[in-house]
Amino acid sequence: MNITDAHVHLITAGMADSAYHRYLKLFPAFPDAVRHNAQKLFGGGFPEYLAQTTIEQQAREWLSQMDKHGVSRVVFFPIAERLEEMRDFIRHAPGRFYGYAFIEEPAGETAPVRLKTAVNEFGLCGLKLYPSIQMFHPGDAALFPLYEEAQSLGIPITFHFGISNAPIADYRFVNPMEIQLPLKLFPRLNFIIAHFGAGYFREACLLGFHNKNIHLDTSGTNNWREYTPEKMPLEEVFRRAVAIYSAERILFGTDSLLRPGAGYRGAIKEEQIGIVQRIGISESEQALVMGENAERLLARDGSAP
Ligand SMILES: [Zn+2]
Repeated sequence: MNITDAHVHLITAGMADSAYHRYLKLFPAFPDAVRHNAQKLFGGGFPEYLAQTTIEQQAREWLSQMDKHGVSRVVFFPIAERLEEMRDFIRHAPGRFYGYAFIEEPAGETAPVRLKTAVNEFGLCGLKLYPSIQMFHPGDAALFPLYEEAQSLGIPITFHFGISNAPIADYRFVNPMEIQLPLKLFPRLNFIIAHFGAGYFREACLLGFHNKNIHLDTSGTNNWREYTPEKMPLEEVFRRAVAIYSAERILFGTDSLLRPGAGYRGAIKEEQIGIVQRIGISESEQALVMGENAERLLARDGSAP
């Protein structure tokens, strides 16, 4: 079975710097809090690692981790709009590395044209939106030009809703229900909700009621289940997701990030393959979840990449 991991992260020194400055811009009165929170996420030798590691070295490290864990392709999400860095990274392994764009101020007037450049000139194939760290309401009409552009470019958008590990996140913006109207207004745009909604699984399930252009990614530890009134076993989450969405709209992911002391999350991959094999879906449906769905969504001409 070919495995495509639809959700991993690339952080470069430049991206970390841009993200830090985004926070300072959002919270100019609280530089100490920003620094303290950034330290929690980017501490542990990570800044030193980033400063010493070139994009080419990161690419080589990723390829060796993918080979070690039997992963054919991965989809990288950046944490800042450093399009040229993502482009330089994915160039090291065409056909194995796929890069998403990140757009600062997604409700801004120039956001659609920047997305177009990211796709047509930088070879990126999707958009990551993170409402709680970018502080916007995804249901707001100001976002519609960006959705319109993504729809005409034929690229998916992955949203991180729900709880977050980000240094500073504003939970006023975490509810997936915000995309209910955009799902209707942009029927050819594929929306992907990361981590089964990260605590908003119920809402994610409800959105599956009559929308076909919405998908769930399975990525990460799914430890959001530790913070819900009743803890669902991960296997049950998968069963409900498949029952509501069908295997055609579930995308496997690990949320891996290479950093000192942490490689590819092979244990999550093994756990999820085991679950997918136990929930009563056919082998061809298992292959959809473990890679073919992501490949279909990323293929802009309708064929697999
Ligand atoms: Zn992630």
